[in-house]
Amino acid sequence: MLRADRLMRVSDGRFEVFVGKEYLKFNAAHFIAYKGFRERLHGHNYHVTVRVEGDLGHDGYVLDFGMVKKATKRVCDELDEYTLLPADSDCLVIDERGESIEVTYEDGARFSFPQADVRLLPIVHTSAEELARYVAGRIRAELEAAGARPWRRLQVSVGETPGQFATWTA
Ligand code: ZN
Repeated sequence: MLRADRLMRVSDGRFEVFVGKEYLKFNAAHFIAYKGFRERLHGHNYHVTVRVEGDLGHDGYVLDFGMVKKATKRVCDELDEYTLLPADSDCLVIDERGESIEVTYEDGARFSFPQADVRLLPIVHTSAEELARYVAGRIRAELEAAGARPWRRLQVSVGETPGQFATWTA
């Protein structure tokens, strides 16, 4: 009876690795815009944390921590010190004109950025939620490209300020 209980508990348990390093961050400018509302352009020191759930490999790892840190750092570096714009916005018109990107909101407010300063992301809003989903997709691609073994669940949180995170799990 005791043995059966212990087996049950072992099979119900799950392994997860968590990476939440101080250096896994990016500084970026953005503004939230949806129909009827637009924030002023401002910036955050975004932090990224990653959880990977999966089975143990023959080496006792779910996934090598080093691999997770490297993939996450690479994605943070891609976004660091850029202005993040939502390419799929339903209220911003985004025009690429030569070396510039011009952004016009529904009320006529207009921004112009050097193209090299901008990351045009395939999202509708640059909210922490949508950034978390985007960053998770990029980390997934980096892990797969690095030959990471299959995992069960990837959870990525993006925080705009300490203690305030949005999370995407898939
Ligand atoms: Zn913000």
